[in-house]
Amino acid sequence: MENVSDMTVKINGKEVAASVRKDVKDEVERITAQTGKGLGLAVVLVGDDPASKVYVRLKDKACTEVGMTSMQHTLPANTSQNNLLQLIDELNSAEEVNGILVQLPLPEHLDEEVVLDRIDPNKDVDGFHPVNVGLLSQKLAKLMPCTPAGCIELLDRYKIPIEGAHAVIVGRSNIVGKPVAMMLLHRNATVTVCHSRTKNLAEITSQADILIAAIGKPHFITRDMVKDGAAIIDVGINRVDNKLVGDVDYDNVHDKTSFITPVPGGVGPMTIAMLLYNTLMAYKIQHKLLV
Ligand code: NDP
Repeated sequence: MENVSDMTVKINGKEVAASVRKDVKDEVERITAQTGKGLGLAVVLVGDDPASKVYVRLKDKACTEVGMTSMQHTLPANTSQNNLLQLIDELNSAEEVNGILVQLPLPEHLDEEVVLDRIDPNKDVDGFHPVNVGLLSQKLAKLMPCTPAGCIELLDRYKIPIEGAHAVIVGRSNIVGKPVAMMLLHRNATVTVCHSRTKNLAEITSQADILIAAIGKPHFITRDMVKDGAAIIDVGINRVDNKLVGDVDYDNVHDKTSFITPVPGGVGPMTIAMLLYNTLMAYKIQHKLLV
């Protein structure tokens, strides 16, 4: 743990992510030794968006490092919806594929919703399938979206109390804001979700014991919006002058907080770690190893 001031702990996402990956690796090794079979993650990339290619390469590398097989399927940008759905059907029924991830965004002519809905919910390692979203809202989900799950893991690893805390989330997207709100609610936080139409935003964020910023606007959360001693999880990834910065004005805010994630090196590394964790969970679901 690194202190950024006498009172503040800078959350080390790289360290926590490495520890999650190590746990996954140990379990993958055990399963492989016991069964003689490995675990596999299929990643589908349509087109050649440079950022998506980087993400897919990182996922491929992370997979290999924990001893899983990474199966990359790259389709041309003009792939038809039917071709893509056919590939997903094949991956759904392939025994060696435990997890399926379709890299987003898809080219415009493809219907993201239809494509994601086609993935077998038990192989949906992104946790975006409506069945898994429904299970999450009922507190029954085993496959939860990776970035929100990563935020909770950071809070837990740093023993930041969730029960009874007022958690304020700025952002209500399906991939971050809403699922993290649900997860915090299930952990008995009192949850407030803010968005672009929220009135008196600073007044609300100033009441947060836990503040989660998932907005996509550089340095949006300023010092006056933060309560003394709050724990801040900054999900934002914004490129400013060729540098990555978060949604929180870190330099001017950190010494007011008890815990804070930096960008980069906070939530970012957790997303891929939780993807690997989800692939392991998917394997266990498919082999009925979860009670
Ligand atoms: P979205 O653009 O889907 O959602 C942004 C949310 O912020 C919306 O709910 C929007 O409100 C809200 N918002 C926008 N402007 C304001 C404002 N002025 N006041 C209050 N709320 C506002 O983004 P994502 O959830 O996909 O991503 C958020 C950030 O997290 C991005 O920087 C993204 O890059 C990053 N990210 C990082 C990941 C990681 O691995 N670390 C993974 C995923 C995302 P409304 O709904 O009203 O429009």
